[in-house]
Amino acid sequence: MSKKKTKEDLYQHTWLKNLHYDVWLEWTINNACNLHCAYCWFNLGEDGYLAKESIPEGISSFFYAKGSNKINLALLRKALNRADKVFRISLTGGEPFLLSNIIDVCFEITKKHFFSTNSNLISDKIKDFSERIDPKRVVFINASCHIKELERLNLLKIYINNFYLCKKKGFNIGASEPAYPPILDEVSKYREFFKKIGIGFRFVKFCGKYNGKMYPDAYTKEELEIFGIENDPDIKMFHSKGKLCNAGYNVCVVAPDGSAIPCARISENLGNIFDKINFKKELMKCPHELCGCPLKCYDPYLFDKALVGCGTKPALEKS
Ligand code: SF4
Ligand code: SF4
Repeated sequence: MSKKKTKEDLYQHTWLKNLHYDVWLEWTINNACNLHCAYCWFNLGEDGYLAKESIPEGISSFFYAKGSNKINLALLRKALNRADKVFRISLTGGEPFLLSNIIDVCFEITKKHFFSTNSNLISDKIKDFSERIDPKRVVFINASCHIKELERLNLLKIYINNFYLCKKKGFNIGASEPAYPPILDEVSKYREFFKKIGIGFRFVKFCGKYNGKMYPDAYTKEELEIFGIENDPDIKMFHSKGKLCNAGYNVCVVAPDGSAIPCARISENLGNIFDKINFKKELMKCPHELCGCPLKCYDPYLFDKALVGCGTKPALEKS
């Protein structure tokens, strides 16, 4: 059985690097992709773009706002320069590297702020990214691995080469594979494979329907242990009602068009990344009974900072 993981084990990318940012913006930059994973919760058409409304229950339709394949750099530059806080901007999708000017966007962000991303790492822009972007301004690259799709399309070699490219340049990068029930019998095989080639690899919860059952709730204890995700803080629905959360205080989610709200389940308008984001002055108490992805557990560094900032927790003494 795997030993109980601490939050530092799970989120080393923020804790160990001691990066100094004030707020985290999780930006769903597009809803297009170059893969067609069987379990994708975006309903992608043949062309890889969002085919029709397919919003998972409880998730704001906000994320399904039509995106563009290009960010207005002049507007973004202006907003980033005049920001009075240091941002960690995470780009996710869809597949962020499908944006035609993604490298310029990363370059602008990392001049003064920090960057992180979830990417399937098969884009031919990864080379340019690894050469132009300063690894010291990149919190973490979550190289989301979709093994069956990579094998089906003969893209595994490209994924691995891009991973090595980033690692060699000094980026903090790790591979994560959705713990999709049909690959249960091959877990050891894939673990061994990635270990052998020197790629840090872990499973993460799969969210969605398989065989008529809803995951992650439907995982058995044994399945959780096989995937090694039994102690992940977001594996079970979290009883969130009335508990403090930093959503909207120093964390928020951003839609493809730049508009910001506190979290996927609270659609309060906080402004727009291209203009100004108006963060709340106080921590909120969650109004929902349950939450499947409490933002506070993905960046414990910022949650602690929020508790200290609101006087809920004393500041740590400087050593
Ligand atoms: S890589 Fe992600 S966004 Fe793209 S098809 Fe797969 S699950 Fe969907
Ligand atoms: S616990 Fe979840 S639903 Fe509640 S405010 Fe935080 S992120 Fe939103």
